[in-house]
Amino acid sequence: MAKRNDIAVDIKDILGKLTIEDLQIKGKRVFIRADFNVPLDDNMVITDDSRIRSTLPTINYAIDEGAKVILASHLGRPKGKVEPRFSLAPVVKRLQRLLNKEVLFVSDCVGPQAENIVSKMKEGDVVLLENLRFHPEEEKNDEAFAKSLAALADFFVNDAFGAAHRSHASTVGITKFLPSAAGFLMKKEIEYLKGVIENPVRPLVAILGGAKVSGKIGVLENLANKVDKVIVGGGMAFTFLKALGQEIGDSLVETEMIDLAKSIMEKLRRSNVKFYLPVDCVIAQTIEAGAETKIVTTQEIPRAWRALDIGPASVKLFSEALQNAKTVIWNGPMGVFEIDAFSRGTFAIAHAVTDAYALSIVGGGDTDYAVHKAGVSDSITFISTGGGASLQLLEGKNLPGISALTDKK
Ligand code: AMP
Repeated sequence: MAKRNDIAVDIKDILGKLTIEDLQIKGKRVFIRADFNVPLDDNMVITDDSRIRSTLPTINYAIDEGAKVILASHLGRPKGKVEPRFSLAPVVKRLQRLLNKEVLFVSDCVGPQAENIVSKMKEGDVVLLENLRFHPEEEKNDEAFAKSLAALADFFVNDAFGAAHRSHASTVGITKFLPSAAGFLMKKEIEYLKGVIENPVRPLVAILGGAKVSGKIGVLENLANKVDKVIVGGGMAFTFLKALGQEIGDSLVETEMIDLAKSIMEKLRRSNVKFYLPVDCVIAQTIEAGAETKIVTTQEIPRAWRALDIGPASVKLFSEALQNAKTVIWNGPMGVFEIDAFSRGTFAIAHAVTDAYALSIVGGGDTDYAVHKAGVSDSITFISTGGGASLQLLEGKNLPGISALTDKK
């Protein structure tokens, strides 16, 4: 399997905002908002540190430039209270290992202790502040709280793409008080999820899946006049099949979306975008491991049975549609991939995407998890670190965390 890094992608300066490279950070205090919202097991051990790793280029750059590096993040949903199980303490240890240098941990992100430690920092020092969401003011985008965060630094750098769709004190409020720039991860996310889609190497194929049409409708509408082909799998496909008049048994359907599904198919047809739906599926009567399963065509789903994965004929059809792709954007699994019996379609499409020898972009969340489980994550060109934020970008919407950054002159 080849990783397609050699397609010439003409990415214009789509960001239009300052980046960390535009700032004179030597000897200055730089507040870097990162997304260290990593999964932890019951023993507070980090089970996947890719979010920490993805922001290392920004942190290392700041260290190498001689900045005083102040790192801040949220973790989980402590709902404005101090909750030890949401402490960033495990992140400190991992960061020290990855950076190969000492990282000082401050047990509160604002207040005298933080101010005192920061005032003693030397060039190249790194400090990590405790979970921002231990303060209710963070999610309320409270101005006084944002000002206290800003008081710690000379510059603000946002590298937390996963939180860029939120208007919080550490993503938006703080930008009112400091010159504010994007980090390298933030820039890369925008370049891939916006730049490549706006100016793709064609054919551009979108693969959409997941539970519901309603969750992806904005993406479909935005991509409809940009892509050459759309492949739809997962639970959402059955609302489209229903709209085409097929009986879909007990499969997931959003009745209120049927008319919209019809108009989208009509819009795609008028724009000459090829549209692919599953032709067969794996069905069961219950969504559980060990349930009896059958493979049937999508025209022959019995009444009490529900479609929980695409079948082998659909895999073949979708794989053929992907074969000449030069750019692929994928968001949403093809079935209930969390259960082995319904995971084959998603994994087969993961392989088809990497076999296509196309520049491949995977939206975050479930699809990220699926390509890892399929063992092909190393062959994907770019995997977004943000679920909600990447969806919002693919819907063609602006992200508050990016809009708030200082414009590039
Ligand atoms: P989303 O968050 O909309 O991308 O949906 C992801 C979820 O969709 C996953 O947890 C899958 O288990 C679920 N899903 C995918 N295909 C189906 C299906 N055919 N029926 C029910 N749920 C599905």
